Formats: sequence, structure tokens, C-alpha cells
Amino acid sequence: MEHEDLKYVRRREQMVENQIARRGVADPKVLRAMLTVPRHLFVSEALRDQAYGDFPLPIGEGQTISQPYIVAEMTQALELGSSDRVLEIGTGSGYQAAIIAQIASRVFTIERKHSLYIKARALFDRLGYYNIATRYSDGTLGWKEESPFDAVIITAGAPEIPSVLVDQLKVGGRLVAPVGGESSQELVKLVKEKTGIRYMSLGGCRFVKLIGEHGWREN
Ligand code: SAH
Repeated sequence: MEHEDLKYVRRREQMVENQIARRGVADPKVLRAMLTVPRHLFVSEALRDQAYGDFPLPIGEGQTISQPYIVAEMTQALELGSSDRVLEIGTGSGYQAAIIAQIASRVFTIERKHSLYIKARALFDRLGYYNIATRYSDGTLGWKEESPFDAVIITAGAPEIPSVLVDQLKVGGRLVAPVGGESSQELVKLVKEKTGIRYMSLGGCRFVKLIGEHGWREN
């Protein structure tokens, strides 16, 4: 292993210990994934040395890669099993999808910005994430042909949870999304049960806007 790689392995260990495990994320599958995925490769070269910091970072097009802790918390909330099929709305850098791909069987991720979609796809191929399927479209409409999903994650702030995405969830499935206003939201978890839908709050958060037919309008 090169010296450079070793430096980032150490930074990942510190990130998991200080930012993630310390704040209560305990699922060993999530911690292992966060130790494995090379987050520094999901940001531009200029930001590589900041990749393991306790904050989000810009990824171009006015979008951001989420803070490591938020990625871990949302992933844990999805309660993923190794045979799960997962839908992600908002590919962005591809980091969250890669974390899920370490744990679940398949990830279907949708991005509405063409340049981000192209970049993430190239990175998935380069890193060998062949269980991630990508799509360039409005994710608020879901991915009907591949549904139903065991879990759905929305990584952009929504005015409300698009009902089509709940429709594309299996009974027993989990959905996690930031829901609320344009500048701050509440992280909401929903479980689709046989008898109805159960909602839980995971606390406050700040995400870029979910823009689309069942999200915010552009501008
Ligand atoms: N999961 C990403 C976070 C990216 S930020 C990561 O790990 O880096 C949110 C992303 O959602 C942005 O890239 C934005 O372009 C995208 N987005 C917003 N509305 C969308 C929509 N309707 N469909 C698909 N992607 C959307």
C-alpha cells in the first residue's frame, strides 16, 4: 500500500471513532462500510485533505457531499440487510451510494444534474462498484421498473415525502429523508407496515433542495 493510501486509512479510522461511533452509531456493518469507502476520492483533488473532516463539502453544481456522521446515521436508519435492493434519490458525489453498496445487494441511484451523474458513474466503474445502477432523471418519480425496494433514501431536502416513493417500497421497507423548509429540515424515517405507515424523527438537518415534479420547483 502506498504512503498516501495509508494516510487516508488512518483518517478514516479517526473519522469513525471520533465523529461516528462516539455519537452513537453502533451498527457494525455501517462502521465497517465507513472504514472501507475512500471518501477522499469522492471530492475534487483540491478538497482531498478535507475529505474526512466533520462537515459537508462542495461537489460542484452548487451541491454538497453530506457530513460523514449524517451519512452514517441515515445508513443505519435504513436497517439494511445483505440481500436488500435500495433506491437513492440524489447521487451527487456517489459517496452515500457506495456506503450502501458495501452493505446491501444492489443500489439504484438517480441524479438530475448531468455532470454529477457522469462523474459518479465513472467513479463507480473505476472503484468496481458493479452493484450500483445509475440513472439520469427526476428521482421524485422513483424507478418503477426496479421497484419494489427494501429501502429508499432521499439525500436532498423535500417539502414532503413523495408518495410515489412510498408506493415503490415493499411492505416492511424503510424510507429516510430530510423533510421541511428550504433551508432546514427534519430527518424523517418511515416504515411501511402491513397496517399502515409509522413515522419517526431523527432530528434536525440541512440539505440542498430536492428539485423535481414531487419536490421543489426550480428557482
Ligand atoms: N448522496 C449524495 C448527496 C448529494 S447532494 C452524496 O453522497 O454525495 C443531493 C443531490 O441530489 C444533488 O446532487 C442534487 O443534484 C440531487 N437532486 C436534487 N433533486 C433531485 C431529483 N429530483 N432527482 C435526482 N437528484 C436530485
